[in-house]
Amino acid sequence: MAGEKENDNNLASLGLTDGNFIHAFIDEDIAAGKYAGQPIFTRFPPEPNGYLHIGHAKAICLNFTTAIKYHGKCNLRYDDTNPIKEDTEFVNSIEEDVKWLGFKWDNLLYASDYFDEMFDCAMRLIQKGKAYVDDLSASEIKATRGTLTNPGTESPHRGRSIEENVRLFEEMRAGKYADGEKVLRAKIDMASPNINMRDPVLYRISHSTHHNTGDQWCIYPMYDYAHPLEDAIEQVTHSLCTLEFEDHRPLYNWVLEELEWKNAPRQIEFARLNLSNTIMSKRYLKELVDDGTVEGWDDPRMPTIAGLRRRGYTPEAIRKFCEDIGLSKSNSAVEIEFLEHCVRDDLKTKVVTRNVVFDPIKVVITNYPEGQTEDAVMENNREVPEMGEHNVPFGRELWIDGEDFMEIPAKKYFRLFPGNEVRFKGAYFLTCQEVLKDNDGKIVELHCTYDPETRSGSGFEGRKVKGTIHWVEAQTAVPITVREYGYLMVKDENDPDGREIFNPDSLVTKLCYAEPAIAQAQAEERFQFFRHGYYIADAKLTTEDEKVFNQIVGLKSSWKK
Ligand code: ATP
Ligand code: MG
Repeated sequence: MAGEKENDNNLASLGLTDGNFIHAFIDEDIAAGKYAGQPIFTRFPPEPNGYLHIGHAKAICLNFTTAIKYHGKCNLRYDDTNPIKEDTEFVNSIEEDVKWLGFKWDNLLYASDYFDEMFDCAMRLIQKGKAYVDDLSASEIKATRGTLTNPGTESPHRGRSIEENVRLFEEMRAGKYADGEKVLRAKIDMASPNINMRDPVLYRISHSTHHNTGDQWCIYPMYDYAHPLEDAIEQVTHSLCTLEFEDHRPLYNWVLEELEWKNAPRQIEFARLNLSNTIMSKRYLKELVDDGTVEGWDDPRMPTIAGLRRRGYTPEAIRKFCEDIGLSKSNSAVEIEFLEHCVRDDLKTKVVTRNVVFDPIKVVITNYPEGQTEDAVMENNREVPEMGEHNVPFGRELWIDGEDFMEIPAKKYFRLFPGNEVRFKGAYFLTCQEVLKDNDGKIVELHCTYDPETRSGSGFEGRKVKGTIHWVEAQTAVPITVREYGYLMVKDENDPDGREIFNPDSLVTKLCYAEPAIAQAQAEERFQFFRHGYYIADAKLTTEDEKVFNQIVGLKSSWKK
């Protein structure tokens, strides 16, 4: 199992700095000599019952960067102690996603590989008089657990002898009982102020086939019992988990203390990531997939790592996001605009700009010679001059953006309208002379004239114009499909609590015209579409002949520091 990969990550190469309250706790433990001679050891422990999402990315980044910072280790461990929900499709996707985020685990492990050891530990608890077999049903256990204000009541089976408990637990394992007929419970304190400490269930019976252990077991350990053992067996020093486990920490510690574990791991909790306009619940996301509301776990609207990847997000942007949102001890929601800001910021200096026209309107330059074309020069990236320039053809017939023409201009509209002169980027000044419409009043084409004196780069100093618009030459334009995305979830106007519901307008597909260079776009290649935003050639739908682009993010940020 050991040594999956050398952990040759380092923080700087991942573009990260360090320092948070968890690291302060670790520094404290190191100063106290608590884990002397041991590497600082963390783990990412997903349950393989769905695809990972951006919330998991936060936990992944935290666990791996902590190990890197302390020159320690980090395991990827499948928390697969629940036989019925797990699937190998999910196992494979998790590995792919962690790798894609840029991290390398030290060991790839399955919690189910520890079932023997967990069983032996349970036997030791029984021998110590710290666990007993109970015949109460799940609902009886729930009913006798008490409330926040009232203590629970002890089970009539709590006083069973050690010998009887040993025998019954062996029989549970041997398959003598049906599901739910018996459980193993910790013997702690039915009056504990912490309900998790009121004789929690450690093992349950489930006659079901497990993806890793098959039919070898018909009893399965509960999460609160299994998790501390998984960590301890792997010599994890710091078990980082989300806030809802804070009340479970006494039980985590109880299990390891009763088993007299040396150098037991320390559980530290941090706040879960919540994002506005999206949802992190695996169950809800699975529903969207299963009922076909979205195209799959990797639908570009999904907050899954697979969805974000297909959408065009970069690992750099996600790591930066996870780092910059920081760690906190209280739950809150991060604005999705901040995630968008991170990817925009990352792509700004990385990708080339191309001209693409949306909602196209045809422009005919009536005084431009028929059959003539010339090259216009376009910069590849305005922010990075070293990325150079490229030529695009200019000719008599062009396409411009629907948004760049108004027959009756609004106030402060400086783009094209009848009688107005604007700069066609990289080319000439054009004036709109005439609007041609069909019988339904729909605009068919605009007749314009150009001024040959105004060629870009000619040093023309004559008139100034207020508007510059982009265009593509009609004969050479490449038709492409562009998928524009709205947020997955939007506020439900009818809900008094303002809860979010699935956004039925979250996908809008458009036919656009692109400059010729786009014909060479490869799947997963990213671009800035001038004046529109960042786009990626869809990994699944883009072919040699057909180009389908996903909108990654728009150009303008509505996010304020
Ligand atoms: P479920 O309980 O529905 O299976 P989960 O979110 O608990 O979902 P796990 O696979 O158990 O999923 O999570 C693996 C790790 O990721 C856990 O350590 C968990 O705390 C962490 N994690 C899950 N969701 C978030 C989130 N939104 N923010 C931060 N960490 C998270
Ligand atoms: Mg979980």
